[in-house]
Amino acid sequence: MKAAILEERKRSIGSGGVHGRGIDCDMNSVSGSVSQRACVYCGARVVLNPITDAFHIVHGPIGCASYTWDIRGSLTSGSELYRNSFSTDLQERDIVFGGAKKLTAAIAEIMEKHAPKLIFVYATCIVGVIGDDVDAVCRDAERIYGVRCIPVKSPGFSGNKSFGYKMACNAIMELISRHKTQKKVGGVNILGDYNLAGEMWIIENYLKEIGIPVLATITGDASYETLIKAPAASLNIVQCAGSMVYLASRMEEEMGIPYERVSFFGIEDTADSLLRVAALVGGAETVRRARALTERGAREILPATEAYRPYLEGKKAAIYVGGGFKAISLIRQFDAMGIETVVVGTQTGRPEDYEVIGGLVGENCVILDDANPTELETFMKLKGADILVGGVKERPLAYKLGVAFCDHNHERKHALAGYEGVVNFTKEIHRSINNPVWGYITPAIAPVTPVTESERF
Ligand code: SF4
Repeated sequence: MKAAILEERKRSIGSGGVHGRGIDCDMNSVSGSVSQRACVYCGARVVLNPITDAFHIVHGPIGCASYTWDIRGSLTSGSELYRNSFSTDLQERDIVFGGAKKLTAAIAEIMEKHAPKLIFVYATCIVGVIGDDVDAVCRDAERIYGVRCIPVKSPGFSGNKSFGYKMACNAIMELISRHKTQKKVGGVNILGDYNLAGEMWIIENYLKEIGIPVLATITGDASYETLIKAPAASLNIVQCAGSMVYLASRMEEEMGIPYERVSFFGIEDTADSLLRVAALVGGAETVRRARALTERGAREILPATEAYRPYLEGKKAAIYVGGGFKAISLIRQFDAMGIETVVVGTQTGRPEDYEVIGGLVGENCVILDDANPTELETFMKLKGADILVGGVKERPLAYKLGVAFCDHNHERKHALAGYEGVVNFTKEIHRSINNPVWGYITPAIAPVTPVTESERF
């Protein structure tokens, strides 16, 4: 079978160097291309789900709720409520006569049994079709029970995953705006870290060590009480820009809190981020402590990373992750290991992310936005990738191809952020790439004849 690239997709595929710049991105998926992206609702849910003491009610068929049940491996230092899944389980009868009554009843039941302070109600595809007035139901709930009940307008078909991020950010603004007159007390909010495998705690500990207080974490390990303190911060630091720059911009405009983009993946990015935040929030002493921490961190992990280097040098990596910031950090991390990035793509990268990516990788590297499995498979084979770094949907693709895989998304159990994350990541890449199992595997799918360069563009 010969794989070809859909005509409409060609503008979203480029290569490194100057050609990587200016590919089409930040747009809706091409119909029929079987995008790897999740829907609008899923985008909203992954952002809000780590708020640990909130009730997340999915207004829609049960499938939407099960699809995203406990979707992130976000850890909690408090409530476990967020790990449950609540659905109004809309049926045919509700589609015909409307589902608003069922939603009202679900909220009443939750208030009677659990009396939470915060409820999110997600409107899914079918609610967008039948037009239930979710706003009115939430308004009534707030009036009757005194609870914050916030609609998240996220029908799956209403855009792309980035639109879901935006809807989640609007919901957070709806929650915290009532508290925006608080006096600024200094310190930072951490935006766009979801506490996978406890990564938020690593970042918080670094900031604590250099003397910078953290007011709110948005949304990893967040709770109602911590979120409403966010307007008192003097700086927002934004790790996952794809999901949180919109919220950061709104907080800057409406609450006067500036923001700074950071990344705590890799030695270089971690050090650079800590030093920049220290300079922005603290004085000379804070910067001195940050410098001491970053020098110590890099020094302590050097023996471990150097030990793996001979086993990794010369290998080739493919990257397909959610946002641009992560792809950029991963390219740098692979570079430090002596691994060449030969394929790199994201679900929600922005033009400025692809500008940076294009400058970091070589001309041999394929850059693609909003890829589908056929494209990933074709380019991984064409470029001879030894490992794919991705998320839950990319894992089976790699295994079917007989290629090593590293989960850099929801399901992982160990931290990949900060200095300890660099060691964990290097170890995992080594264990996966150099696993003897790959020598015994025959790829389970028929080989695809790669498209030629001229067919690609
Ligand atoms: S919101 Fe729509 S696209 Fe998303 S999971 Fe539900 S039915 Fe599927």
